[in-house]
Parts: sequence; structure tokens; C-alpha cells
Amino acid sequence: ALVVRHRMKSSGKWAQAISILKEFEEKCGTPISKLKQVADAMTVEMHAGLASEGGSKLKMIISYVDNLPTGDEKGLFYALDLGGTNFRVLRVHLGGKEHRVVKQEFEEVSIPPHLMTGSSDALFDYIASALAKFVATESEGLHFSPDRQRELGFTFSFPVRQTSISSGTLIKWTKGFSIDDTVGQDVVGELTKAMERTGLDMRVTALVNDTIGTLAGGRYNNPDVVAAVILGTGTNAAYVERAHAIPKWHGLLPKSGDMVINMEWGNFRSSHLPITEYDQALDAESLNPGEQIFEKIISGMYLGEIVRRVLCKMAEEAAFFGDTVPAKLKIPFILRTPHMSAMHHDTSPDLKIVAAKLKDILEISNTSLKMRKVIVELCDIVASRGARLSAAGIVGILKKIGRDTVKDGEKQKSVVSLDGGLYEHYTKFRTCMEDTLVELLGEEVSNNIVVEHSNDGSGIGAALLAASHSQYTEADES
Ligand code: BGC
Ligand code: MG
Repeated sequence: ALVVRHRMKSSGKWAQAISILKEFEEKCGTPISKLKQVADAMTVEMHAGLASEGGSKLKMIISYVDNLPTGDEKGLFYALDLGGTNFRVLRVHLGGKEHRVVKQEFEEVSIPPHLMTGSSDALFDYIASALAKFVATESEGLHFSPDRQRELGFTFSFPVRQTSISSGTLIKWTKGFSIDDTVGQDVVGELTKAMERTGLDMRVTALVNDTIGTLAGGRYNNPDVVAAVILGTGTNAAYVERAHAIPKWHGLLPKSGDMVINMEWGNFRSSHLPITEYDQALDAESLNPGEQIFEKIISGMYLGEIVRRVLCKMAEEAAFFGDTVPAKLKIPFILRTPHMSAMHHDTSPDLKIVAAKLKDILEISNTSLKMRKVIVELCDIVASRGARLSAAGIVGILKKIGRDTVKDGEKQKSVVSLDGGLYEHYTKFRTCMEDTLVELLGEEVSNNIVVEHSNDGSGIGAALLAASHSQYTEADES
């Protein structure tokens, strides 16, 4: 009788765990009807954000980029790409139409976590000194006449209110960064002061968001690129808008008639978004509560953490991992999205990668195959929701620029440049996002929409924009 009672008890617990999962799945639902509402809401918010400053949760930041690379860019330029846990420094030798990118070199440096929440000077000093070291490796005679200052494109992947192509103030930090004294400061000023402190003579000629850099890098390779999306630690999009369709722009109408907009879509929010109790708790306990809601259900910084939160609930309320809740499971952000991705892609019959991750990261052993299958299912729910919502966001942009329909059998291609670790490395996420795009747009329209991976386009893109905004004219070129 004892055995029977025990079995009943544990099967009751199992059912309870499954019902937690099923309830979560239901709340995460993204049927096409809902995705269409999200896409429409995105379009509406884009209009509102362009109409007036503060008109929407979407900041729709004017980038001051009104010309995208043509291929004529020439010379040696540096770029610095700061946005996630790593930053990169690049040296790009541009050879014009004929020679294109003659050579590029880069170095990746990781940012010690304490600098992400320390002081502004400490962060920028660290960056400037890494940059100075990199500049010192420049081969001699590469070019620089002593009277010509080196120039830099600065990719800074946070919301910045641009005041010109080469200046802008930080609106707020996102992702894992939180440094109060940078907020409201001109980030080019911060970097320039740090370069002066390190004795590095270099001028920032372009300050760009990573989406803008990716768009510029994408356009350099393909003239049909109209938008860029980052799916990485954070998420965001940029696209080419007609300047006359930007009521809040009071400057001169650019010759090109175009203006690139940094949407900052990570901050998008709508009553149509499927938000669960886990998302609400994650947000409330985050570094930026109430902000970046779209980002918190889509991007790489958060997906693994959502999975952890659901597992935690299953452990606490339904003894999913046995009578005690595994201690490691209670640690925020311990389960990273790459771990989640590895589990999600596990194709071994006994799900041994899932078992290994659980053991290595959460110190949970002795899981049954049945349990591991549940965990894979959970990863699938979280990843699919994020992927499908990002597809809806892209459709919102295509609608805004009138590329969501086919006019008289027209074959005009619209290319969207994609970059970011989530897109690049999380195959199921990428596939789901791309399939959902087709589902939303229909076969005919989809034939004209191309999603293209822009491999680290944001660095090259910044160098290209640094070149086109150089303080020197072509005539100075030797
Ligand atoms: C930032 C954006 C950035 C995106 C992708 C977001 O958290 O607000 O500026 O483009 O991450 O890196
Ligand atoms: Mg990046």
C-alpha cells in the first residue's frame, strides 16, 4: 500500500509539473492572428515615434546617416564595437570600388563584469587602452602621414540620442550595463577624454548603433538592403526611412531624401505581447524594470533565464527535481541561452546533452528521459515565442516601408541584414523566425524578401561610415 501511495503522490506531482508547463505554453502562444496584431502595433508605434519626440515607446532615433556606403570609401579606418560582453577593435583598409575591403584586422576583448556596473571613466579608460594597444600593432608605412589624424567609427549599441553623426548622449543603459554617470553624457566625449588620458590621438568621425553599422555593412555588399536587425544579447532594428516621412525631423531635407532610423525596438511594448508571470518577475528583478520589454522576451540575454524561472517554479511547486529545489537553479542568469540552445538541439536518443548541461550547470543528476524531454519542450516554447515575435517585428517594418505586398507582379527585392549571436548560433531560433516570416507574408511576397546574415557587418559598417564622414577630403588621400 505504501508503494502505491508513493507512486500516486509522485504521479500527482508529475501532473502538476506538466500543468505548470502547459499553462506557460498557453500564455506564450503566438498564433498568426496575434502576430499580425503585433506587426500592426509595431507599424503604428513607428509612426508615433517618428511624429514627435517621446511620442512612443519606440524612440525611432534619427541616426544622421543619410547616405549609406557606395563602395567608393577609401583609406585606413578604425572601428570600435561596444555592445555586449565583448568589445572589438578593428582596422579596415578600404580600397574603393575596385579593391573594396583590402584588409581587415580585429581583436576581441572581453569586458570584466565589474566594469559594466562601475564608473564611466573606468569603462572608457579600459576601452581606450585596449584600442591604443591595437593601434600600436599597425604595420609601419601602412599609410599614416604624421599630420593625418587616425579616424574611428564608434559602434555603441545602446540607446543614444544623436546630436550629429559624431556625437550623442546616452539615454539609458540596457543589457547587463548600468553605469549611472554615463547616462546623459556624450559618449563620444567620454571616449575622446579617455583616449586623451591614454595618449591616443584619434578622432571619432561616426557614432553609430550596431543596427546602423549592420545596415551600412549590409548595403555595402548588397544595394537592396533596406533594414537591419540584431538578435543577440539584446535586440533592435534600423531601416531606411524617407526623410519627409519623419515629422519630428526639422533639419534640412538630405540630398538623398533618406534618413536611417534606429528604432530601439527592444523597448517596444504592446497589449498584444504574450507576457507571462515569469516575464513579469524577470522584469521586476532586472537592472531596468519596466524597460526593454520586447527585448526581455526575445533576446539572448534573457531566454535562458526565462527557462530557469519556469524550471524553478516546477521544482518548487511540483518537486520536479525531487524533494528539494536544486540550489544552483535558484541563481539568476546561471542558465545562459547558449546552454539552452545546446539542450534544445540535442538529438541524441537519450538526450545526453540535456543531462550533461543539467549536471554541469545546475548540478542536477539522475534525471529521467521523460524529464529531459519536458526540458527540451520548455526550451522550444521560449525560443519559438521569441523567434515568432521577432518575425512579427520585421513584418511591422516591411509594412511601414510598403514592402509587405507585391505590386503588379513586381520583383523588387527587399533585403534585411541580420546579425547577432542568437541569430547566428541558435539554429532553431533562426529557422523558426524565418519560417514565421514566410507564414506571415505569404509565399508570393516572401519570394521578394531576403534575410541575409551580415557577418560582423556592424564593425565594417562603422568603419565605412567613419570613412564617408572623414574630416579629410578625397584630395588629401595619398
Ligand atoms: C540596445 C540597442 C542595441 C541592441 C542590440 C539593445 O539593448 O538598446 O541599442 O542595438 O541592444 O545590440
Ligand atoms: Mg554586436
